[in-house]
Amino acid sequence: MAYIEGADAQLVIDKYMAKKEVSTDFYFAHDVDELDQLCRIFWADPQARHNFKLFGDVLSFDATYSTNRYKLVFVPFTGMDHHKKSVTFAVRLIAKEDLDSYTWLLEHFKTAMGRVPTCTVTDQDPAMRVAISRVFDTTRHRYCMWHIMTKVGIGEQRLQQLHFPTSSLTDFFIKFEKAINKQRHTQTRLNADCEDKFPELKTTLLLERQAATTYTIAMFYDVQKEILEACFSSQIINKTVEGNTVRLEIEDTNKMMHSVEYNSSTRATHCTCNMFNRIGLQCRHLLLAFKDARLERIPGQYITPRWTRTTCWPYAQLYANPEQGGPTEVLSGGTRMGTVFDEFFKCVGNAYGNTDRRKWKLEQRKLV
Ligand SMILES: [Zn+2]
Repeated sequence: MAYIEGADAQLVIDKYMAKKEVSTDFYFAHDVDELDQLCRIFWADPQARHNFKLFGDVLSFDATYSTNRYKLVFVPFTGMDHHKKSVTFAVRLIAKEDLDSYTWLLEHFKTAMGRVPTCTVTDQDPAMRVAISRVFDTTRHRYCMWHIMTKVGIGEQRLQQLHFPTSSLTDFFIKFEKAINKQRHTQTRLNADCEDKFPELKTTLLLERQAATTYTIAMFYDVQKEILEACFSSQIINKTVEGNTVRLEIEDTNKMMHSVEYNSSTRATHCTCNMFNRIGLQCRHLLLAFKDARLERIPGQYITPRWTRTTCWPYAQLYANPEQGGPTEVLSGGTRMGTVFDEFFKCVGNAYGNTDRRKWKLEQRKLV
């Protein structure tokens, strides 16, 4: 029997082991120390694992959240979904923030998910850094300013919002599941909005209309902003054509000059601002090049599936039934982990092949 100072650890373990028996997709692991005391829990339900398949290009985690009474550290593994909302892939509770614990955790994460994330964002914990290099050997590891500031106390106010103060472990998991359900309900509502609502167009461009039907509403507004910048605030200063290759020098809002190369045969494009490589969305310069080429549709290779409306369709159908772990209720209270994602969004680009060493350094400097 596992226990924590005579508390209810066994109840929690029994509950999740029972779920694991019912659903082979429910991943649950725990460990006890030499005193037979519960010291580690790892949890990832079917929907969390599916979320990782869809949005696991960038993973963020840190061990900033303590659960008070039992002194177990709560570690949520989170990412960003196609509505720019936080999404949970897995959680873990650990008694010690040491190399053994982190290695155990990451190995279970890798087994549960079947792969490692392309990019991992953490704080500067040295044990975590070593564990990541051992287990997540192919991931790009970045540090996050928010995590670091929180560790030194500057982010204390935001940290307080992330605590789960509870009187028992059972109570902790009840609160945790409520938070997860709320997060999933939000995603379901936003998915429904994408099926029912069509955002207002600001131009007559067919490119904009296509973007409105392709991207989620949240992402479309980002693309629309770039379309408006392309139409009304950017201009082509110079244009040369050599065979199928068109080169454009474009001046944008900030009087910044960028060069776009466009192949009219393959429709391959490149812009020196590198926005597409960083976040998977077209910049104003590429959109102006498409407009100049009189394209009516954004070339397929420049639509990143993780930002589109259809990304979640199979997922929504699979988990529409609450019995399979889907949203069961609307719950009050704030989301626990959403606030880090302004910074997190910047890191999405790291997962999209931005291999330029100089730019990599530059982005790292912005983060740390
Ligand atoms: Zn650009």
